[in-house]
Amino acid sequence: TAPDRYVVIGNPIAHSKSPEIHARFAAQTGQRLVYDRLLAPVDGFSQAVRDFIREGGKGANVTVPFKLDAHALATELTPRAKAAGAVNTLKFDADAILGDNTDGVGMVTDIVTNAGVAMRGKRVLLLGAGGAARGVILPILDEQPSELVIANRTESKAAELASLFAGHGDIAASNFEMLQGQFDIVINATSASLADDLPPIPASTIGAFAYDMMYGKEPTVFMHFASTHGAAVRDGLGMLVEQAAEAFFVWRGVRPDTAPVYAELRAAL
Ligand code: NDP
Repeated sequence: TAPDRYVVIGNPIAHSKSPEIHARFAAQTGQRLVYDRLLAPVDGFSQAVRDFIREGGKGANVTVPFKLDAHALATELTPRAKAAGAVNTLKFDADAILGDNTDGVGMVTDIVTNAGVAMRGKRVLLLGAGGAARGVILPILDEQPSELVIANRTESKAAELASLFAGHGDIAASNFEMLQGQFDIVINATSASLADDLPPIPASTIGAFAYDMMYGKEPTVFMHFASTHGAAVRDGLGMLVEQAAEAFFVWRGVRPDTAPVYAELRAAL
């Protein structure tokens, strides 16, 4: 029989590292599967998914700009996908399209397990209120920080997220300029780094550890700012590998070892 087929769907998609990551996971765990890139037209996401299902596809990862479309298309949602309001992992089963979101748990695993930075009892600052920020809120609150503050350029969006998750822990909203006190962990979930821009937060907010969801060749301006003010810093490459491992587990029921795959990707940057 032919190996099971998976894809990562996005637009653009050529840059995606997911096929390399999943090929390594498959080789390591002895799972027989193929994993390709699928470029969908910006208005053609659901058609692309339906075509792939008809061809026998078993699952998909979903990236920019389709995570909301995937959320709408799913016939069943996991609690973490519901909370995130977005879907990055689809699993096709008979007539059902299961939607999951592994981004948040991927980031928390990268910080808590890989970087060894516990969140329990800590003050955590989350910069940004877009899709990436929303997806990590519940997994952060599950770690029981003493407080989570969401700060965003457009403060009303931070306030919306804070009220949405108010029942799950101590959570507050702010703009960048008015932030008070130091935070043990500062997470940049804005897309500012893409434009070499820095959210204008007071230097006094920077505590022991800072994380930028962005990854690439160089340290971002945010990572430079945070390390200048004494923080240990980490980029989002580990989040990328961990969200993939969690998706692999959803599809295959097997947990790959992420450390060697992370090391290979890091060396290739
Ligand atoms: P969205 O477009 O949904 O949200 C963008 C956010 O960034 C908003 O809060 C926006 O503020 C803020 N922002 C944009 N530009 C600036 C700026 N110049 N200064 C300050 N704030 C700014 O993007 P996503 O949430 O989907 O993605 C955010 C980042 O996370 C991206 O860089 C993406 O690459 C990264 N990411 C990494 C992953 C990984 O696996 N490592 C996974 C998912 C995302 P406002 O509301 O005021 O417009």
